[in-house]
Amino acid sequence: MADAITIVGGGLAGCEAAWQAAQAGMSVNLYEMKPVRFSPAHVSPLLAELVCSNSLRSNNPHNAVGLLKEELRLLNSLIMKVADETRVPAGDALAVDRRIFAEKITCRLETHPRIKILREEVNRIPKEGILVLASGPLTSPSLVESIQKLTGQDSLYFYDAIAPIVEGDSLNAHIVFRASRYGEGNDYVNCPMNREEYYRFIEELKRGEKVPYRDFESPIHFEGCLPIEEMVERGIETLAHGPMKPVGLINPRTGRMPYAVVQLRLENERGTALNLVGFQTKLKWKEQERIFRMIPGLENASFLRFGSMHRNTFIHSPTLLEKTLQFKKELRIFFAGQITGVEGYVESTAMGLIAGINAACLVQNKSLMVPPETTAIGGLVHYVTNQQNREFQPMNVNFGILPPPSGRLRGRDKHKAIAEKALKDLQEWIELNGL
Ligand SMILES: Cc1cc2nc3c(=O)[nH]c(=O)nc-3n(C[C@H](O)[C@H](O)[C@H](O)COP(=O)(O)OP(=O)(O)OC[C@H]3O[C@@H](n4cnc5c(N)ncnc54)[C@H](O)[C@@H]3O)c2cc1C
Repeated sequence: MADAITIVGGGLAGCEAAWQAAQAGMSVNLYEMKPVRFSPAHVSPLLAELVCSNSLRSNNPHNAVGLLKEELRLLNSLIMKVADETRVPAGDALAVDRRIFAEKITCRLETHPRIKILREEVNRIPKEGILVLASGPLTSPSLVESIQKLTGQDSLYFYDAIAPIVEGDSLNAHIVFRASRYGEGNDYVNCPMNREEYYRFIEELKRGEKVPYRDFESPIHFEGCLPIEEMVERGIETLAHGPMKPVGLINPRTGRMPYAVVQLRLENERGTALNLVGFQTKLKWKEQERIFRMIPGLENASFLRFGSMHRNTFIHSPTLLEKTLQFKKELRIFFAGQITGVEGYVESTAMGLIAGINAACLVQNKSLMVPPETTAIGGLVHYVTNQQNREFQPMNVNFGILPPPSGRLRGRDKHKAIAEKALKDLQEWIELNGL
């Protein structure tokens, strides 16, 4: 096929990218290594396999992932269309019959007149042509090696270490205090703990229910970046001498150094989202909510993201990618899906959609597109490509990555206002770009 776009990976991102590029009039060669080779998590020969849960999370447009879904529907996403067609009852969540979902997507792509599906493993990045790399969190080892050569050794990661993020306006301002260690500025928000509070917290961390490691994750050694609950297993005082050490911090309300401190670091200049420094964890989400709300100042914390640690392959997108998802050093190459540093089925789909549209624009000599930062899809693109984002870790969509509304709205009202603006801005952007 002349001028065909090559897409590597027939997962959620690759399928969406293929669909978007083909719908824009392009010929597409979509490479998927299954069934010749399976990653440790994939089991079905079908495209767009959901490797774990059959839920695409909330469908409520006033929730960030629900908003992202609504935006994808406006952008004619194939994955969203088929998800809606194959929905099974799951309350406020959009869950699907995973087999019918994958079958329908496979069929739509197989029967598309401009899409050719090649069941082959791609071992090396092709030297020519427009390319979308969407090989996912479990990219095959030979391709990983090739990507590593392209991006540089230090720009490709093999596991994530995600700390929870809370909403700035949900902190208890009567308890937390701003300070950096030794009075050098006030960059951090600190949650002070006395001895009893610390011991109670450690006890709950020990007891908290954890997500077990999967077989293919067990060889990972997180030394230097251990989950907090594993640090606790090394001794009751380990955290007080590690991420929770109080040294150099004086609580202005007592004039004394607390027994231990949880430090929160700003995720954005506006301070609307803050992460719990060093709190990467395998605790189950419900347990994180329960146990982290024991931290003084976080009693009513609203969680934008929960902590996690997984086997994951992702690149340091803030230094490597343009906002169009093009690789800066070779603009013919796009990255899409989880490998760009987003987290989740819907987020991976969104990155596939943008890469697919832009790959087609590049071949057709059209201006490439960047969605507005006020939208969920644009917020994600901005998050992964923002050069200020030095300590980059994968991110799921959440309201903390979007600009807050003007005024003093809080909680649900704030989220509703952000979502309404996002949908309005996206609609205008779609009309402007003739999408
Ligand atoms: C074990 C596990 C469980 C997860 N569970 C969830 C969950 O429950 N909910 C959620 O929202 N997110 C989950 N995720 C995160 C993530 O959102 C999904 O993995 C999502 O499927 C990522 O989409 P993707 O298109 O980027 O990659 P994938 O969907 O993994 O697609 C990548 C495709 O590329 C193919 N491929 C890889 N290497 C090559 C190669 N060299 N040549 C050709 N083809 C290749 C693979 O076979 C695969 O089909 C999970 C991730 C993992 C690893």
